[in-house]
Amino acid sequence: MLKTLITQRLASLGNLPADDVTQGDRARDAGDWAGAARGYARALEADPGKAPIWVQLGHARKEQGDLAESEACYRRALAVDDGDPDTHLQLGHSLKLQGRRQEAIDAYLIALLRDPGLSAARRELEALGIADGDLAQVLRRSSLPPAGPVRGMATRIFGGTDVAAGDRARDARDWPNAAFHYARALEADPGNAPIWVQLGHARKEQGDVAGGEACYRRALAEDDSVADTHVQLGHALKLQGRREEALDAYFAALLRDPAFAAARRELYGLGLSSTDLVLALGRGSVQAARQPRPPRLPRALLTLNGLFNGDQRPDGNGPPVLLEHMVRLEPGAIGVYVDIQCVPANELPGNVMVTLAADGHVLDLVAQESSFGPHVYTWRGACASPGDYRFTLRGDLGAGALVRYAEISLLDPASPRIAPVPLFEELTAPSLGEIKNLIIGTTGVCNASCIHCPTNKLAHTARTSSDMPMALFRSLLEQIRDNRILVEGHISLGLFGDGLTDPHVVERARLLRTQFPDTPLHVNTNAAAYDPARHAALRDFATLVAVHIESLDPERYARLMQPFRLKNVLPKVHRILADMPGVAGITSPTHRENLGELAAIRDHFTGHGVRLPHFSRLSNRCSREDMYRELSLAPAAGTCNQFAAADLIVDWDGTVLLCCNDFQRQEPIGNLSTTPLLEILGGEKRRRLFDILRTGRWDQSATCRSCKFDCHHKIPELVRDRLASA
Ligand code: SF4
Ligand code: SF4
Repeated sequence: MLKTLITQRLASLGNLPADDVTQGDRARDAGDWAGAARGYARALEADPGKAPIWVQLGHARKEQGDLAESEACYRRALAVDDGDPDTHLQLGHSLKLQGRRQEAIDAYLIALLRDPGLSAARRELEALGIADGDLAQVLRRSSLPPAGPVRGMATRIFGGTDVAAGDRARDARDWPNAAFHYARALEADPGNAPIWVQLGHARKEQGDVAGGEACYRRALAEDDSVADTHVQLGHALKLQGRREEALDAYFAALLRDPAFAAARRELYGLGLSSTDLVLALGRGSVQAARQPRPPRLPRALLTLNGLFNGDQRPDGNGPPVLLEHMVRLEPGAIGVYVDIQCVPANELPGNVMVTLAADGHVLDLVAQESSFGPHVYTWRGACASPGDYRFTLRGDLGAGALVRYAEISLLDPASPRIAPVPLFEELTAPSLGEIKNLIIGTTGVCNASCIHCPTNKLAHTARTSSDMPMALFRSLLEQIRDNRILVEGHISLGLFGDGLTDPHVVERARLLRTQFPDTPLHVNTNAAAYDPARHAALRDFATLVAVHIESLDPERYARLMQPFRLKNVLPKVHRILADMPGVAGITSPTHRENLGELAAIRDHFTGHGVRLPHFSRLSNRCSREDMYRELSLAPAAGTCNQFAAADLIVDWDGTVLLCCNDFQRQEPIGNLSTTPLLEILGGEKRRRLFDILRTGRWDQSATCRSCKFDCHHKIPELVRDRLASA
């Protein structure tokens, strides 16, 4: 074959000095390589542009043992004509004989690319350790290389096949092989950051976590803009117990991609609170968030909010005492800010006054004009002697009025304004990348009409409510997924209705469990609609099925949880508890009517194998003022801060609300059936309510204005006492 090719090519040479070529051929055929070389060299002196004669001279030199010279001849031939696969093949042989494996692979590879049927080149490559499968991939993916220097091309290409081989091994969880191939690929291309990450995974999976860490760091040295690489480094550090460094790595990921749910999840998992995270984002590092900030003015010295102040105490020294508290004052300008929640809003209190006194010394406080509305009272004074002062607030409050907020602050003497100091200054805008709790009104229908609950008593419920269409439900989940929004807290189904009246509750729970495998899922119910055949499957998807029951006394139960009868519902409650061990729990709002029953409720249900019932705080749900006043034990005004705006609350028809206490849906911030989720989360309405909460201007929100909850100190105390004394 080779001889035929040579004969054909020589026949085409036409104008070569025939004698020299003929002499060279004769010498070659006789095995006289020195004579052959002389003939071919003379011919090339006369015409150096004839590639086939350079090839012949190369053979003669090679046979003479002069490999470097033969290589030079083949390269001269290729400089004249780079398209001949056989010349590349010959060059490959020469290089191989010189022990230059990588360059030989280059040459054979190019020979094969120019003639994929050139079996000699294929055999040589296989002999040099290039697997048939890898070769097939290269041939499929590669086009003919351009003329000119090709050194390193095979390295690059076979580096690629090492990546492919590494990926295959990785997918088969064959970590040693994956590490081998990735390492070889990196020898060829050490600047390939993604492959350093892959090598890091392979090392980590083999138990070499420190080796994995080194690879991730190397990847970051090449390219530190990829959030996921920082997360991988965080994992390696976490596995080595280096919590602080892991926190930094996860946080670096979040700085590069604020919507990176995995990074947030890890940060929370390592104990960072939402507040820490806000501080860290504001200050640019987790460690900086830990450092106390230098004190700035204005600065709160005492903050009282959401506290029970119903024990109004006349003492003969003026209007009744509403609040009393000790506060340590510092020298400087002092401001006092008092916000009274009035329900109805125009029933203002009378004679509101404050004193700050220590050791018989009373601070001089001058009332200031307030720009916050008639329900806000402000005073200014100056503290010359630091020490512990008694703060006393007095006033004549109407029946529905409460002290919503009281604050004493160190003022900037230059500023005439006395305003609440924002509690979390760094959190200045609502997040789009995460929500705290996802509360879904999968149904607006409830089969009960509990006396203190607005459900079935307000226009939007009862006759007009329904179940959330599955298409809308799916769209909500898809938008959360597609926008990579992290649900940091729990998901709950029900909202203003009973979770089990929703015909799709199990299907929804299944979908949620698939999309959010680690997120707690709560279903709220009064148990009356429980059907084991339909609902028992919830135990596989929900983490809590919270059964609402307010009394074990038949008459009281009938009055509180109308129109149910205990004898009909209690067996269903028991059945849920039996069907869903570890998942079902009892929740019982605590109020005047059932306070005496708490121990009996606890004993009854713990006797059925459930954990301690959750004795929750009663709320007026921003609407049931009458019943709330009747039942409440320790009323306090709702005074959430801006973190409350982190929940996502979607009612059955797509209405998005800021707060799940907004039973009357007075302040929708959008509707998911008409507006994309991200637009709602970034919308002006959400922003406005967020700012109201951030700056403590609750009176400017229709729901917050009248919101009441029982005191978060007083109720746990009462519950504890009642359970302990039973
Ligand atoms: S408190 Fe719960 S069970 Fe009672 S009416 Fe309201 S939603 Fe229904
Ligand atoms: S209405 Fe909601 S956000 Fe406003 S104070 Fe009440 S619970 Fe908080």
